[in-house]
Amino acid sequence: MAFEPVIGLEVHAQLKTKTKIFCGCSTQFGKLPNANTCPVCTGMPGVLPVLNQQAVTFAIKAGLATDCTIAQESRFDRKNYFYPDLPKGYQITQYAAPIAEHGHLDIETEERGQKTIGITRIHMEEDAGKLIHDPIQAKSMVDLNRTGIPLIEIVSEPDIRTAKEAGAYLRKLHAILKYIEVCDGNMEEGSFRCDANISLRPVGQAQFGTRAELKNLNSFKNVEKAINYEIQRQTFCLEEGKPVIQETRLWDPSKNKTTSMRGKEEAHDYRYFPDPDLVPLIVDEQWIQSVKQTMPELPAQKQARFIEQFGLSAYDATLLTASIDLANYFEETIKGLTDIKLAANWTMTTLLGLLNTQGIDITRSPVTATAFSTLLQLLEKGSINANAAKTVFEMMVKSGKEPGVIVKEMGLEQVSNPSELEEIVNKIIQDNPDEADAYRQGKTKLFSFFMGQVMKKTRGKADPKIVTPLIKAKLV
Ligand code: ADP
Ligand code: MG
Ligand code: ZN
Repeated sequence: MAFEPVIGLEVHAQLKTKTKIFCGCSTQFGKLPNANTCPVCTGMPGVLPVLNQQAVTFAIKAGLATDCTIAQESRFDRKNYFYPDLPKGYQITQYAAPIAEHGHLDIETEERGQKTIGITRIHMEEDAGKLIHDPIQAKSMVDLNRTGIPLIEIVSEPDIRTAKEAGAYLRKLHAILKYIEVCDGNMEEGSFRCDANISLRPVGQAQFGTRAELKNLNSFKNVEKAINYEIQRQTFCLEEGKPVIQETRLWDPSKNKTTSMRGKEEAHDYRYFPDPDLVPLIVDEQWIQSVKQTMPELPAQKQARFIEQFGLSAYDATLLTASIDLANYFEETIKGLTDIKLAANWTMTTLLGLLNTQGIDITRSPVTATAFSTLLQLLEKGSINANAAKTVFEMMVKSGKEPGVIVKEMGLEQVSNPSELEEIVNKIIQDNPDEADAYRQGKTKLFSFFMGQVMKKTRGKADPKIVTPLIKAKLV
């Protein structure tokens, strides 16, 4: 029997507010344990939460950017459970009445082209703290700096069918949250985390099967790997006639497998009820309008503009707008350039190639957009040719020097003086009479031989745009 995977994702994104969601403590990452705490976020008795307005504004912005309907009235509930990183004994979260619902997000899939993934809801909640286990001293410690940091949880419809689609959805969502500047998207620091729900059903069956929930997925690659593993595991279960158990499973990236963590709890286990310390959250039309006014160009709009304004292909435009940092880098690069396609090619192959092999993000590129632009200007003006430009780029990465300085130091200026080049071409034809004759008799493949000789003579610095017509003219 063939099975079809059904996948729904829950993403927790930390909002980039300066202070926590219900108190004035700093949200700064990397502080000494418990430095960012107060009686409110450490759950002392008798304290009262005060909602952070900026957090609400960010949540509205995320809702609008994913085409959600913003609720005029939403509410905060208490989700009750015990864990040492949750001193209050409950998490304040929007459960019954979330701030945003019924959105969607479009992804590109290899198999089926564009596909729309529904967004069930976006709700606001507070983060929990962190336990640090010290196996040497055989003790555990708690750091409450993260307690009370504002989160939005973005819950997708179970519309996803493959690991690749899940990856595409997450990358797109990540890109959007960074574009609208509500989340820094740092996955290593846990600012953007994902749980994946997976079930299988026989192909053709409408009803969903029993799902497992995967936790601890801290990179796009791990999400895809974990989902593929889980599809395989559940397929084996069902083929052997064993039921899939509804449970929470942990992904172990070092072993490339998931293991059972605990049985999945049901909503009623949490005894949700409205938090009596917080009034309902009212968002009026004016608030929504003011957020709309701060909405920047979103990926799809930027992509359309890159096609329209710069004449780029849809493929190039999609790639160059995949992250706001890359798009900004590219727009900075093309200042002062006329050949945008050239800049696009160099950005996508040479620059991204380098970042890929070094495994670094565009924001940490060893070559700044300004320096990259200067290099491409030298190429565009014909001061250096493409080969030399590659050499200069490599030197820029190694030495951090200005492209102009490298060109001078390495003597890479292109030879584009026509009379100088004509003399060289003449000499080469003279020195190679057999090849010249063969060319004249129709062996035009020998063109590259002559070009090669010119490049050899000029140590790769001849301007091919001038040499090409010269060779052709001399060999008729
Ligand atoms: P929780 O996991 O907290 O109980 P929900 O019930 O809201 O939360 O579901 C979480 C996610 O699980 C959603 O993204 C939803 O699309 C997905 N989901 C629900 N049922 C299934 C299923 N049978 N198979 C796969 N995903 C599912
Ligand atoms: Mg869940
Ligand atoms: Zn606090």
